[in-house]
Amino acid sequence: MIKNIAVIRGDGIGPEIVAQTLRVLDRTAELYGHTFNYTDVDMGGCALDKYGDPLPESELKKCIASDSVLLGAVGGNKWNSVPADKRPEKGLLRLRAGMEVYSNNRPAKIWRQLADASPLKREIVDKGIDFIIVRELTGGIYFGEHRTENGNATDILRYSEKEIERIGRIGFETARKRRKRLCSVEKSNVLDSSRLWKKIMHSLAEEYPDVELSDMLVDNCAMQIVKEPSQFDVIVTENMFGDILSDEASMITGSIGMIPSSSLGAGTRGLYEPIHGSAPDIAGTDTANPVGTILSAAMMLRYSFDMKKEADSIERAVSEYLDCGYRTADIMSSGMKPVGCCQCGELITGFLR
Ligand code: NAD
Repeated sequence: MIKNIAVIRGDGIGPEIVAQTLRVLDRTAELYGHTFNYTDVDMGGCALDKYGDPLPESELKKCIASDSVLLGAVGGNKWNSVPADKRPEKGLLRLRAGMEVYSNNRPAKIWRQLADASPLKREIVDKGIDFIIVRELTGGIYFGEHRTENGNATDILRYSEKEIERIGRIGFETARKRRKRLCSVEKSNVLDSSRLWKKIMHSLAEEYPDVELSDMLVDNCAMQIVKEPSQFDVIVTENMFGDILSDEASMITGSIGMIPSSSLGAGTRGLYEPIHGSAPDIAGTDTANPVGTILSAAMMLRYSFDMKKEADSIERAVSEYLDCGYRTADIMSSGMKPVGCCQCGELITGFLR
């Protein structure tokens, strides 16, 4: 297969972690007989310096024309004082809007080799934690009307059937590519929007008989994520609940440098990026952990390109790298072998089969 990937290296550690990820992608292409063509896209602080705009139209067009987008990270102290509409992070918001992605998907996975980094008790971690939160990204209370008058503040939470149905489909499709269990999270004991959410999820379930659907109230879900996270495979939820639950879920894994994410809309094209930022404090020191970006590329292969074997191969290579005791500084513990960003990419590439 030939796939065209738009590559945004970005700022800070972005170029370093992306370089190692392309190395892994190139070797995967070689092993499985694919061709990945890369188109460099300027976005963030580097684009602001070059064009006076964190995401010029011409750069956005390259992303829209691609089969998927791989992003390192953007932003940094250098651009802290620029006006709000020119900030590097504004480029990211414009990219998401321009690509019309309406779901953000974050896996929460604890690698058994890093179990001690989790703040959860060992007996909970040992049951296995490997789930994804599919969060609606462009609707709900964050996008409703906000008003303050006469000492009263109002925020409107609104969802249409269409908005719920399209995010619901991403939940079901994601579950289909995993262990086929979908948990729909809402607050249907209080909110009308949640009752509509639940109704649409159940009507969609008829189209996905191979996926087992369950419902959970958001307050219970927040407890279950720390009490018994092994019960989850895919969670689908609205914007604000997803914002809070996905931060909770990333904390229990104990390592920000290891977590990938995807953002999807209609069709197969997606935006893939690690959940961390540009880490300006360690940029240029070859100490960044590129695994979150490498795993984002694996997600791209699995969810956008339907390359399951290739994605499995990258995830297995990461696991073998950890098995051998290699650790970047952010996940270092006693007795382990220290490696830098470049060496990490080289080792994982070497474990690909
Ligand atoms: P950050 O995620 O960049 O860094 C937080 C801490 O985690 C730092 O100590 C950093 O060194 C460490 N860290 C992060 N990623 C790491 C990795 N891969 N390997 C090892 N250590 C890692 O968050 P921040 O410091 O709040 O933000 C820095 C800049 O990044 C800001 O300008 C912020 O706006 C931007 N940001 C960008 C994105 C994005 O591009 N999607 C997301 C969040 C923050």
